[in-house]
Amino acid sequence: MTTPKQFSSCVAHYDPNALPVSAAQEIVRQWAVPRGRNDSDDACLERVSLFDALDRVLAEDVVSPIDVPLHDNSAMDGYAFASASIGTRDGASELTLSVAGTALAGQPFPGTPLATQCVRIMTGALIPPGCDTVVPQELVTREGDAIRFDARTLEPGANRRLAGEDLACGEPALRAGRIVRASDLGLLASLGIAQVAVRRRLRVAFFSTGDELRSVGETLTPGSVYDSNRYTLYAMLRRLNVEPVDLGIVRDDRASLEKALRAATEQADVVISSGGVSVGDADFTRELMNSLGDVAFWKIAMRPGRPLAFGRLWSGPRPGDGESALFFGLPGNPVAVMATFYFIVREALLAMSGAARHALPVIGAVSTQPIRKRAGRTEFQRGIASLDANGRWSVVTTGPQGSGVLSSMSEANCFIVLTHETGDIDAGDTVDIVPFDGLI
Ligand code: AMP
Ligand code: MG
Repeated sequence: MTTPKQFSSCVAHYDPNALPVSAAQEIVRQWAVPRGRNDSDDACLERVSLFDALDRVLAEDVVSPIDVPLHDNSAMDGYAFASASIGTRDGASELTLSVAGTALAGQPFPGTPLATQCVRIMTGALIPPGCDTVVPQELVTREGDAIRFDARTLEPGANRRLAGEDLACGEPALRAGRIVRASDLGLLASLGIAQVAVRRRLRVAFFSTGDELRSVGETLTPGSVYDSNRYTLYAMLRRLNVEPVDLGIVRDDRASLEKALRAATEQADVVISSGGVSVGDADFTRELMNSLGDVAFWKIAMRPGRPLAFGRLWSGPRPGDGESALFFGLPGNPVAVMATFYFIVREALLAMSGAARHALPVIGAVSTQPIRKRAGRTEFQRGIASLDANGRWSVVTTGPQGSGVLSSMSEANCFIVLTHETGDIDAGDTVDIVPFDGLI
């Protein structure tokens, strides 16, 4: 891990007023190691039943205790037979077999058919002994107790699912670090596994700073605004399935902020604040941060989200004493909170949760309009993407891109990511978009 000294020199390597987003992400990545690495196993592991495992991070590899499927079985409704019998009718393409009986899913055929026989078989039923191929029922002509079909159309082994084809006994079915998705729950159930070891959920304390902030339910006075960042942060944290700890609104004074930061550091793995890190506030906050931990103040070359503090805090009297937590001091502007959360904070939370890296999906889309963009910073504009008449993604911005315009986030369905070097975009250029929606 980078020491604070290396960290500072790393930051100093760049213009502190224009730390590229990629460099900021790299530094955060180095600091955000899985929490609990030095804890005893008990402290960071939990055993949970399948229904409670959704969206949790697996703490151990899950090794398959059985073959799935357990035995060879049919992939189709049809007739099972021995493919060797095809070769016995030299030259003749048409095969006639008598039907010896039936195999249903859960009710195997009780005997062993002869080479001149076949077994009526349904999908999922055990392939009878001696048989290796299934001819689908659509391909046969049935006449009484016999079937006729063109054997040339079938490869030996056709329409047979092999034992262990889905998951082989003794192989890891899911790896540690996996975030358990819908398909994984089904997969675990298919192995007969009722409980899995998952990591303790990351605890993330968050609060808003600002004398102008009012809570929902209070009356707005001139110059005051409702605190929306705590709600956005709460929701984004819930989506990552971390444990949110809401510490409310903190006034813009040193004593209140110090109290909040210490309390947050004591009870959480990560502390996220919003507001109070822009130019006017920086000196006051910076001094406080330095007394509580190793915090390098960043101005990231990104828009929205230029002011952003990142580092480590301690709850004790001196840095290095007591509990420690990673700290993200996000900007106050509501859109900047979301952009910095997704492009700076998210990956750190996942890594600290013990999750394997999950890069955000980036899609190329044609911009249907010119977009003004200054080279030398990464911009995360809000976009509305849709499939055009040719089946390609195209994207249009939501209009005014002020970092306080939260409605632009609700209206959008993607971020348009304009990288550091990129300048103005012409209509028809391809840009990167990151969709808001995931499937599973
Ligand atoms: P700051 O970074 O504290 O200078 O705040 C920048 C802008 O964001 C100001 O207009 C603040 O009023 C606004 N702001 C800060 N915190 C919040 C919040 N929690 N909810 C809504 N707006 C906020
Ligand atoms: Mg403020």
